Amino acid sequence: MKKKVVMAIIIFLTAGITLATFFSCRRALRPLNIILMISDGCGYNCFNAASLYQYGRTGMQVYDSFPVQCAVCTHSASSTPYDPKKAWTSFEFILSDPTDSAAAATAMATGIKTNDGTVGLDPGGAKLINVVDLAEVMGKKTGTVTSVQFCHATPAAFIAKAENRYQYEKIAYQIIKESPVDVVMGCGHPYYDGSGRPVEEPNFRYVGNRGLWEGLVNGEPGADADGDGKPDPWTVIQTAEKFRGLIEGKTPERVFGIAPILKTLQQGREGDVLSDPFDVPLVTSVPTLAEMSLAAINVLDDDPDGFFLMVEGGAVDWAGEENQKGRLIEEQIFFNQAVQAVVEWIETHSSWQDTLLIVTTDHDTGYITGPGSGKEPPDGDLSKTWKDLVNKGKGKVPDMEWHSEYHTNALVPLFANGFGSERMAALADKKDRVRGNYLDNTDIGRVIIELLIERSAVNH
Ligand SMILES: [Zn+2]
Repeated sequence: MKKKVVMAIIIFLTAGITLATFFSCRRALRPLNIILMISDGCGYNCFNAASLYQYGRTGMQVYDSFPVQCAVCTHSASSTPYDPKKAWTSFEFILSDPTDSAAAATAMATGIKTNDGTVGLDPGGAKLINVVDLAEVMGKKTGTVTSVQFCHATPAAFIAKAENRYQYEKIAYQIIKESPVDVVMGCGHPYYDGSGRPVEEPNFRYVGNRGLWEGLVNGEPGADADGDGKPDPWTVIQTAEKFRGLIEGKTPERVFGIAPILKTLQQGREGDVLSDPFDVPLVTSVPTLAEMSLAAINVLDDDPDGFFLMVEGGAVDWAGEENQKGRLIEEQIFFNQAVQAVVEWIETHSSWQDTLLIVTTDHDTGYITGPGSGKEPPDGDLSKTWKDLVNKGKGKVPDMEWHSEYHTNALVPLFANGFGSERMAALADKKDRVRGNYLDNTDIGRVIIELLIERSAVNH
């Protein structure tokens, strides 16, 4: 996007928000890092199921003690808006017409709702500025990390603009050749299968095409990532060892990390997909989401202007859609470990004054409840129709049941800590009698945009 257009929009956005900041704050603040972590498709009971398995109780995750905790409504411009009354008087309501991941990610990346399936465009097809575009203009480094394909809906919405989320070739081209983003990490490797074994016949679906892939690995330049007016090549890494090697020490300027597996780190590996967590041995040739997140941060934190990073646990949703309890819990544990690693990085190498961390999801998937839910109780009290998961103790899968093989429009959780996190709490002004206060998913993007403008405005 032309920088002039971006700047015009920034000036417009800034006008109502931060004039006071421009003139009243003379002391330069240190640069702000913003990290948004999205466990794709993990509703309340998905978070709970993983916590019960990990700890034998809820409330033990690092984000459970974050000062800001609220709910989020996730509907898209084309799906059914959340209705707090209907949601708790009809068991079926949240099943009707939920958002998809592309629209939900676009809402968080741009602050604007769009139609299902759309990446980075508004419902009329106009290109939206996303938080990566804005952070780049503000001089920050930017990155996306995912446990699924790097061009899948959620990371795509933070970088690309496409009418349809399945336009992988178009999206991959924008990411590799046109975006100034500094770090892209994920799966989609053309020369490996879904269990991480080398294949004879490459599959270029997720890397665009053969030419784009070969140009990438041969060091052809992409866009200008560092703002010096010259195109910058990617340093491409393709092995678990190379990912781990980036966690500490000096790093290249710009990294494209593709794990040696086709679609996702672990959830798609062969073996009994309905077995308990970790019964099927993990693929050992790929990094973990925590390792990828730390590697990405170590590349991004070289910039004195700070960075924006989106981390997605992308296959929680896939396990949910397949109603795979064991793999759902595994994937959410990998996500939890990534959050833990990021928190340790913040507390060791940065601070909560200089970093905002938001942990959330894009929508609920699978409509997980405790056993026996959905039946009208004899006394007619519909609030009793939703049962809690039955805790079986640490290391045991709680008793649970599924009511969907897709997404729902249920409210989902959000946890935030660090600079600006109180703004999330302030925006959570809608009330739900079960989940408490909630905000809209576009509020997440709006807060990030405001903070990027304000903290950069006083620094430049
Ligand atoms: Zn999703």
